[in-house]
Amino acid sequence: MKSQLDPAHIAHVLSQDYGVVLEGRSGRNESGFEYLELSPAELHNSNGFRIILTLGWRSLEARFVHGSYAADLIEAMGNSTLVEKGIFSDLVTKNLNDGATFRMIINGNNTDPVQPALWPTEWTRLSLELKKSPLAINTEDPDETEKAVIHWGSRFLACILNLIPLEENGNASGTDITGLPEGAKTRIEVNRYERNHLNRETCLQIHGDSCKVCEISFGSLYGEIGKGFIHVHHTTPVSGIGHNYQINPVTDLIPVCPNCHAMMHKRNPPYSVQELKDIRTSQQLYPGSTRELAKVAENIGRYAQGRHSIPEEREGE
Ligand SMILES: [Zn+2]
Ligand SMILES: [Zn+2]
Repeated sequence: MKSQLDPAHIAHVLSQDYGVVLEGRSGRNESGFEYLELSPAELHNSNGFRIILTLGWRSLEARFVHGSYAADLIEAMGNSTLVEKGIFSDLVTKNLNDGATFRMIINGNNTDPVQPALWPTEWTRLSLELKKSPLAINTEDPDETEKAVIHWGSRFLACILNLIPLEENGNASGTDITGLPEGAKTRIEVNRYERNHLNRETCLQIHGDSCKVCEISFGSLYGEIGKGFIHVHHTTPVSGIGHNYQINPVTDLIPVCPNCHAMMHKRNPPYSVQELKDIRTSQQLYPGSTRELAKVAENIGRYAQGRHSIPEEREGE
């Protein structure tokens, strides 16, 4: 049977997205199913990890396997901050909502991947597994297979990388997320890593790649060339961030199109998503209105939405 995957290409795509240099290999398991193995190029397999993506019959299985001398890595993953563990479970939740199953085994015990509060504190062994079916895999179309492998491989990789204290290379470019110091913590060195990349990918996996203000999606507007194109805006002004502040890509970052992004930064501090939405609505209602009029309309809009008297949420509502 002919191989359906180009391991070097897939490794290259994911390396670009995450800023981690990954190596790709492929092979076939005892059952004859093709698999793809990805590992960080600059971390030795025995003290690092591999991700094995196995192409089943219309299904895909992704496994995290660590080396036999990876005790430091696993311990460091267990020592991830609560924010990092929270991001991991947000990503897992998203995968579950999209029809995947996820298994987490810590120190040999089945553990709920979305309940970080229940995880043991000291980790010695870790196994992670994501399964997704049905998927357009092992069909007649190798392009579809590759798309599915990259899509789910990326989703699995994001979960894992959020638990790994990777070294920052401090080269912040492209977005307004700057490389921030993370304070003292165990660092496992994986070269040429940029936390920006992981934060961006994590944000997009959680929030999607449509603009939060005007809902434009470049993929649906421009097809292949627009796919995944979007700016990422930091909702907490960088000036208000302390040295030890750790960006939470789920709560601090949002996807916005270049137009809306530029409009947000027309003011310092920037306009919020809701403020811009209100302005857009008032422009539709009162075209050409002045800023003051827009403000009045915006306040009326808020009042109408009851935003000035938000009742406390009660259970069961
Ligand atoms: Zn927009
Ligand atoms: Zn911005």
